[in-house]
Amino acid sequence: MLSRRRAKQIELPLRRLAILFAVGVPALASVFAALYLTSAAQAADPLAIVIFATAAVGIAAALFIRGIAQQLTDTAELLRRFARGESYLRLEDTQRFRELRLTAAAFNDIADRVEDRESQFALVSEATGDVIWEWRAKTDTVVWTGELYKLFGVARDRFEADSTWWHERVHPQDRERVEERLSATMEGTHRRWSEEYRFRHEDGSYRWFWDRGILMRDLKDKPVRFIGCMTDISAQRQAEERIWQLANHDELTGLPNRKVFHSELNALTEAARADAPGAVLLIDIDHFKDVNDSLGHAAGDTLLRTVSARLKDSIGDRGTVFRLGGDEFGILVTRFDRRQASELARSMLGALRDPAVVGDRMVTPRATIGIVLVPDHGANADELLQNADLALYEGKRRGRHQAVLFDPHFRAALDQRIALMAEVRQAVLEGRFRPHYQPIVSLRTGAVQGVEALMRWELADGTLRTPASFLSAYDDPELALLLSGRLFECIVKDFHSWDAAGVAPSYLAINISTTFARFPNAAERILTCLAEAGIPPSRFCIELTETMLLGEHSERIGEKVRTLHAAGVRIALDDFGTGYASLTHLQKFPVDAIKIDQSFVRSIVSDTDSQAITAAVLELGRRLGKEVIAEGVETPEQAELLRAAGCRQAQGFLYARPMPPEALLEFLSDPHRVIYTPKSKAG
Ligand code: C2E
Ligand code: CA
Ligand code: CA
Repeated sequence: MLSRRRAKQIELPLRRLAILFAVGVPALASVFAALYLTSAAQAADPLAIVIFATAAVGIAAALFIRGIAQQLTDTAELLRRFARGESYLRLEDTQRFRELRLTAAAFNDIADRVEDRESQFALVSEATGDVIWEWRAKTDTVVWTGELYKLFGVARDRFEADSTWWHERVHPQDRERVEERLSATMEGTHRRWSEEYRFRHEDGSYRWFWDRGILMRDLKDKPVRFIGCMTDISAQRQAEERIWQLANHDELTGLPNRKVFHSELNALTEAARADAPGAVLLIDIDHFKDVNDSLGHAAGDTLLRTVSARLKDSIGDRGTVFRLGGDEFGILVTRFDRRQASELARSMLGALRDPAVVGDRMVTPRATIGIVLVPDHGANADELLQNADLALYEGKRRGRHQAVLFDPHFRAALDQRIALMAEVRQAVLEGRFRPHYQPIVSLRTGAVQGVEALMRWELADGTLRTPASFLSAYDDPELALLLSGRLFECIVKDFHSWDAAGVAPSYLAINISTTFARFPNAAERILTCLAEAGIPPSRFCIELTETMLLGEHSERIGEKVRTLHAAGVRIALDDFGTGYASLTHLQKFPVDAIKIDQSFVRSIVSDTDSQAITAAVLELGRRLGKEVIAEGVETPEQAELLRAAGCRQAQGFLYARPMPPEALLEFLSDPHRVIYTPKSKAG
């Protein structure tokens, strides 16, 4: 395309020539004429005619040349305007010169094509909704066409601007990247360039664009032209961002999710290697399931949101909170040491503890936290997480609502637990678990009132293991179910064998674990089992601890206790006095008997406090109309004191140790069995 300077170059020499002819030739002719006239003083001399003729020819030539110059100037001007993009211009047909005619025709032809191409551009951009641009190296300007108003808010069909117009509208956060890649393309040998970036609309907002272009180079590979188009991809970007948000964030709390947690943990591990120690905190809301179950899922969601907000607040900019799923949260803390990590955990527990309105209740959110230090407690993300989990588990085992820093011993303890679980499962399947039975006797007459089933693990070598060695198995839902299944299988069989011999005790008591009591159909299971076995519910007793009734699962367990009691099953409160029993609360539950814990009985002879507690429990039993049973009676003195205090039933080594079912059959069948009673001592 012709540039302005090129047009000037054509124009000037012609003008000079015209001036030369128009001024120079007549002037020269006049000089000659004057000289000749003064010297010869002759009129109508033929030479004068020649001179005048020459002057006339000179002037005519000058005029003619000026005419050409004018036409060329016009042509140049048109070309100039054409170069500026006014493609609708046409050169007037001239009859003067073949060359000019041809030039005009060629120009008009080009103009038509350009117009064609531009209307194609316009059509394409209208069809695609894009903005089309063309950059020219010579002028470093860009011609913009297409959907300028829709995309940029520029109310023009087409305009030209220098390239800074574009540069300064690219989002500051994208500018460096885009410009870097652009100059790399310019300086390289590739033709294609493509980039996604935000571009400022006239209204000040930014929209996402996909910009791509093709670069034309000269023979030396220098860029000459660059043509491309910009597509508005804001909607697509939004959809992508939404997908990204969904894939990386938890919808409920808006916190980044487990996936992000893992990748950031990897980064933290890397950074820690580069001497920037950090910490990982795993946080588990205590008894979240209860809130969900008793107050409903909406309440559960509220609690999760409350906890997430409080965690975020208390961590501030020291770290990031993630929701790992369910009621589990993770926190990654950078640049931390042991002391700070524990302090932080403590402050978090404190922040969580403020009462919060959840559903229509006030609840006190509590959590357990497991902490590992990076890199001290793990070489990689997996190891760190496992160890944080161990610390969390240890916190739960120690009674929750606390923060526990990982200790390598936890691993050994866990390994032991896992091995134990496998062993218990195997032993149950092999029938190595069965209950032994301990009689509950009348303190006054020594008559057997009932028996309590106490689980035993009989090893192959005949050794007996008491529940102390396998109590943790009751925390595992699967094993709790397996063990209770085995227990029922045995007690049904044993009860029938005593019954057949006509010596069955008036009732049989079993202990149930919290895990079992929490099974949704625990009560129905028990009642069905009794019905199928033909054992009247009135001859069956369930022993529960007060923490089961008053603790965090109280609502659900209480429900089942009521069902069982309504069906006629006796309910006994075990280990009474060791928990935080609120006596008024106890009235909410249908309890038939209270078992005074062994710890009071053991010290009853020497310790006045124990005496006072025992007396109080007996008094309570009397007032509420509940049977009171003393556990762990080992000496006649204890028995005497209890009897004197008004206790009517007891259980303990003094009367009988727990024994296998066949031994109990013998015990119950023996009319001469020796049972300690104060009377027999006296007699
Ligand atoms: P518990 O229900 O308080 O049972 C009484 C415990 O005291 C039994 O321990 C019993 O052997 C022991 N004992 C009875 N008389 C005396 C005595 O005079 N002196 C002493 N020092 N101890 C006496 P065991 O059998 O080791 O059971 C321990 C605990 O294991 C039980 O305490 C009960 O909570 C739990 N348990 C036992 N069997 C089962 C079961 O089948 N299911 C569940 N969930 N828990 C069980
Ligand atoms: Ca018991
Ligand atoms: Ca007990």
